Amino acid sequence: MKLWPQYGRKTSSESRRLLKPRESTVMPTESSSQDGNGLSLTLQPEILSRTPGAGSSMSPESTDVRVPVASADTGGRPSSRRPRAGTHRHGHAHAEAESDQSDSDPESRESSVSLSELHYLFRWVQKSLPFIIILGAKLVIQHVLGLAIGVGLFTTFLYVNKNIQAQVFLQDRRSALQCFWLLSFLTASSLLFYCTFQTESLYYCLVLFSPQVDTLDFWEVLWAVGVTSFILKFLCMGFKCLILLLPSAVMVYRRRGQWYMFLEELSQVYQVIAPVPPWFRYLVSSPEVDGTVGLTLGVILALLYLIFKLLGFYGQWGSLQKTMRNFLSYEVNGAPAVQSQCNEVGNICPICQAEFRQPRVLLCQHIFCEECIALWINQEKTCPLCRTVITDTVHKWKTGATSLYLQLY
Ligand SMILES: [Zn+2]
Ligand SMILES: [Zn+2]
Repeated sequence: MKLWPQYGRKTSSESRRLLKPRESTVMPTESSSQDGNGLSLTLQPEILSRTPGAGSSMSPESTDVRVPVASADTGGRPSSRRPRAGTHRHGHAHAEAESDQSDSDPESRESSVSLSELHYLFRWVQKSLPFIIILGAKLVIQHVLGLAIGVGLFTTFLYVNKNIQAQVFLQDRRSALQCFWLLSFLTASSLLFYCTFQTESLYYCLVLFSPQVDTLDFWEVLWAVGVTSFILKFLCMGFKCLILLLPSAVMVYRRRGQWYMFLEELSQVYQVIAPVPPWFRYLVSSPEVDGTVGLTLGVILALLYLIFKLLGFYGQWGSLQKTMRNFLSYEVNGAPAVQSQCNEVGNICPICQAEFRQPRVLLCQHIFCEECIALWINQEKTCPLCRTVITDTVHKWKTGATSLYLQLY
């Protein structure tokens, strides 16, 4: 307590002059309350630590300084000053707490409101669940043919895709009969589908035309585009079957992988373009709004769709270009291995465990049959023995796989 007047005396007259104007600005804002004695305990150590250099190094911005200086200048009672600073802070803390409370209140109210809304929605769904099930069953019955066709196309795709990959993996041991069966199955499925929906002339979608029907509603367009995507996949898989049927003398294994990849990329690009005509026609035509307004709105929507498609096509085109470069470059792995190199490793291929056939030595000096390593590199980028990176090229789709991605727009 005795430090207060001392501190006041220690401060130089210069610093007083600097601080005086601040005092005059602070004074009117100070609280007139005489309470807040509790803060004197925390205020004292602060002053003790600041006292030695108070006159010269104290920042004029510090609010702690203003109170004692003023008390020394005006000769007022220090005991009456201290609580003021305390009450000021104390009051401020209260105000903060109050403002915090007022901030959190609407949030909690909002969350409780949204919770009750969710609860209400849940109750509504719970109550009307039987009706939703009945309605769902009715929709299934109404579109049973369409749904059955969709399921049929999907299972056909899964079956053929899996079997083509298995046949590609078998290389020379592939079954020509199995490949022929897959090709026939695909052809029969596609023909059966187009015969069933002959009246809707869905095959127009395959050649970038809109189905030749008078009016197109949303579900019809979605249906036409979805099944066209499947049929295009079937077409691509059919070509892969044809490549599988070619004798090994006509096309070596490595070249086949490049063909599978090229066909798949080409098919994906075409699948991006194919939905444009039906969707464009659907967006342009607006039978609900007559006259030029409807037409203008339709054209704007269709143009926006075209821009969106062009952006998507740009990405796909880059991928196709990369594949084209890979297709034309005829990439081979490693260099031909000489007989002495083969003898050093026992003349046995680590992959097929048989004698080397057209041995290739990789960067890491490991030797494999040409076809064995080509098969491996179709799925991996590294040497199967030491994991040295052999190639940077991405070999997607070389395994004969077909993308499941269904292009719906
Ligand atoms: Zn081998
Ligand atoms: Zn290696």
